[in-house]
Amino acid sequence: MRHYKVIVIGGGPSGITCGYYLKQRGLDYLIIEKEEMLHTWKNERWDSFYLVTPNWMTHLPGLENEIPYNNEYMSKSEILGILERYQKLVNPVYVENTVIQEIVLEGSVYKVYTNKGDYCCDHIIVASGMYSEPFIPKVSEKIPAEVNQMHSSDYKNPCQMTPGNVVVVGSGWSGVQIALELKKALQNEVYLSIGSLSPLPVVYKNVHGVYWLNRLSGYANVNPILNYKKEDFTNPNILHKMGQNMVECQKNGVHLVGRLLDREGNKLIFNDNIRSVFKEADKYIDTAKQKIDSLIEKEHITTGGNEFDLRLDRVDLDAIMPLAELDIHAHHITNIIWSTGFRRNYSYIKRPIFDENGLPLLIDGVATTENITFCGLELEVDRNIRSAFGVGLYAINESSKRAVDYIKL
Ligand SMILES: Cc1cc2nc3c(=O)[nH]c(=O)nc-3n(C[C@H](O)[C@H](O)[C@H](O)COP(=O)(O)OP(=O)(O)OC[C@H]3O[C@@H](n4cnc5c(N)ncnc54)[C@H](O)[C@@H]3O)c2cc1C
Repeated sequence: MRHYKVIVIGGGPSGITCGYYLKQRGLDYLIIEKEEMLHTWKNERWDSFYLVTPNWMTHLPGLENEIPYNNEYMSKSEILGILERYQKLVNPVYVENTVIQEIVLEGSVYKVYTNKGDYCCDHIIVASGMYSEPFIPKVSEKIPAEVNQMHSSDYKNPCQMTPGNVVVVGSGWSGVQIALELKKALQNEVYLSIGSLSPLPVVYKNVHGVYWLNRLSGYANVNPILNYKKEDFTNPNILHKMGQNMVECQKNGVHLVGRLLDREGNKLIFNDNIRSVFKEADKYIDTAKQKIDSLIEKEHITTGGNEFDLRLDRVDLDAIMPLAELDIHAHHITNIIWSTGFRRNYSYIKRPIFDENGLPLLIDGVATTENITFCGLELEVDRNIRSAFGVGLYAINESSKRAVDYIKL
């Protein structure tokens, strides 16, 4: 059984960044990736995807000079190009398409059993991301077989739709963008099912909202904050990306409906509370703003005013017709896209380091009671502020460095 000082689970941006720091510390390591390296960015984004975070918020140690420091957004091919370039630069030691069956501790050594041979190590870094397994609610099992169903991670473009209308379930960034793209491309009926909303201001105190989300998740300020300026709002790249929002969905005729609850006979049953869902969103965003304001005060952060502050979820409530049911046949519902997120699965790690929900018990955000550290997760979980994509590219550097620094060998 080949022995390494450290085994890193997951060959995404976090795993590769861990490789960067492990090499710097001269630690002998192996990354084990269950698919191919950078799998999520190669295979789980749709063709017209653009990052939701502006360029200045992507931090990859060693590659800083190659990422523009501006408020524009990278397309799928641009960010993938950067990440592939990063992989080349770090040149990590890895195995791909290798599925870990079980990790156990024997004495002070972890034994890692995989479908392609076994390894052992003194320390494990779990870098498998926030999104390891697509989640589809159970109601999907009740949908008639003739309806084309897919998870958003399998969605690539409108050509995958069968003729007819579409229900997109889930209204995070992915659901909104996919619904808008389908409406514009197919000119058919598109329904966006919204269970609850936890919107961030897109721009708050003239800075991108995800910057504040990362700070509220416990991450440090890694760069001078880049404020928005007037020219940004005439920049076609920025306008294009900001144009992918809930208000635009409504303007283009996407039907905004409540949570998909069930299927009864030919009917999809929705919660008809959609107007109150939007009203609740106002309360949520107020809480988020208060938390950001407290952070600004506590850390004496200099902000650039608020003239460009922006919310893109303020729809016309009077124009929404609450819908309680939709007849699958009468309304030609032929496609359902489940943009319902992901779940994490650590069940192969046979160690008592998880809570009753199977999530890691963390100390200082990264470490457990054993020689196992996690990266790519929030450091502080604020129950009032739900993070839309965990750590993101902004904090990967800090998160990976913490996970490696913790190793005491
Ligand atoms: C649709 C979508 C859009 C996003 N857009 C943005 C954005 O605009 N800006 C931003 O900052 N962030 C965005 N994110 C968040 C994004 O996930 C992170 O920025 C980044 O990819 C996290 O890197 P990671 O390496 O921690 O996780 P991942 O990219 O998820 O990589 C984890 C890797 O681990 C592998 N893996 C999982 N389980 C195992 C296992 N058991 N054994 C071995 N390997 C395993 C996976 O195959 C994967 O390759 C988005 C996420 C999604 C889902």
